[in-house]
Amino acid sequence: MAIPSNATLLSKYLRLDQKNKIQVEYIWIDGYNGIRSKTRTLDLAIGSVTATAVEITVDDIPEWNYDGSSTGQAQGHDADLLLRPVAMFDDPLRPCLSTTKNKLVLCDTYLPDGTPHPTNYRYHCKNTMAAYAHEHPWFGIEQEYMLIDKKIDKPLGWPQHGFPEPQGKYYCGVGATTVFGRDIVEAHYRACLYAGINLSGVNVEVVPGQFEFQVGPCEGICMGDELWVARYLLERVAEDFGIEVTLHPKPVQGDWNGAGCHTNYSTLAMRQDGGLAVMEDAIDRMSLHHFEDLAAYGEDNDLRLTGYHATGHIDAFSYGIANRRASVRIPRHVGKEGKGYMEDRRPASNIDPYRVTAIIVESSLLPISY
Ligand code: ADP
Ligand code: MN
Ligand code: MN
Ligand code: MN
Ligand code: MN
Repeated sequence: MAIPSNATLLSKYLRLDQKNKIQVEYIWIDGYNGIRSKTRTLDLAIGSVTATAVEITVDDIPEWNYDGSSTGQAQGHDADLLLRPVAMFDDPLRPCLSTTKNKLVLCDTYLPDGTPHPTNYRYHCKNTMAAYAHEHPWFGIEQEYMLIDKKIDKPLGWPQHGFPEPQGKYYCGVGATTVFGRDIVEAHYRACLYAGINLSGVNVEVVPGQFEFQVGPCEGICMGDELWVARYLLERVAEDFGIEVTLHPKPVQGDWNGAGCHTNYSTLAMRQDGGLAVMEDAIDRMSLHHFEDLAAYGEDNDLRLTGYHATGHIDAFSYGIANRRASVRIPRHVGKEGKGYMEDRRPASNIDPYRVTAIIVESSLLPISY
């Protein structure tokens, strides 16, 4: 059971000045596709420059290490893994009195010999994005998730016994018998904007207790970076409220929608006149890799891709304009304008976005080999 924090008491301490120091939260991905973080103090007194005048960048943040045997990433005898800072955001969870801000620093992980850790999917993704940088790949990911009330081990707002009213009124709904947990959604939204994440919107989802936020458009490697930090903030905000977040793609069995990470995608050519034909060609290429690509599209995604509940069936690749039961959908307005972006609806809510964005670029842009 979550221990509620005492926000009033805590605020007394958070008003204390932190002198010439900033708190830097190092964030990384563990061996279970989960998030870990720990804090380090950095001294801003560099020569005669005063703290408030220092504009630090991610390159100023030192590498660090951690115990990989406690994160499913190493054996006990050689457990020191390396954290390399790769992206930096302002920390909304530790507001600072001075104009200098505390920071969130996303890191990727390396073995002691300097090679990327096998669970470091960012490394490969970054190389792929660099190789196709001239295509200017943009992504927008719709992260669906469910809030869980740990006291009764049910989605937030569900009765302890039995079920809520069936699906129908909840999606984008309003009102006290329809929406459960909007505090968390609003707090997370503002926290992301403060951090500098390109959060493009939020909505209440189809199942009571289920929500979505969208991050994007982001070019290349930034998509994975920003989605992971947005997930970190969601976990932390929900922790404050004593509520659990699940990214499982089918959190409740039965006639209830699952949860996905629809991945919207375009290249420069798709966004320009004639883009629709470029998209159709790309979709043809993606169809050839359907089963191979699905392997990286989330654990337990087979429970979700049933062909019902606004999904395409896992056994066959399909696509269509405005079709929400296809693997890949071209939004109606894109079809009308003849350019824009497509939506890969197959990725599950628990994907690693580094894996999925790399695969989409590779599958859609690699020459076809028969
Ligand atoms: P849906 O209608 O499927 O619910 P959303 O509005 O939730 O769609 O999400 C659409 C996503 O597409 C947003 O994250 C947005 O940033 C992204 N997006 C918009 N234009 C582009 C583009 N040209 N390329 C890639 N992604 C885009
Ligand atoms: Mn220790
Ligand atoms: Mn959406
Ligand atoms: Mn949705
Ligand atoms: Mn969608």
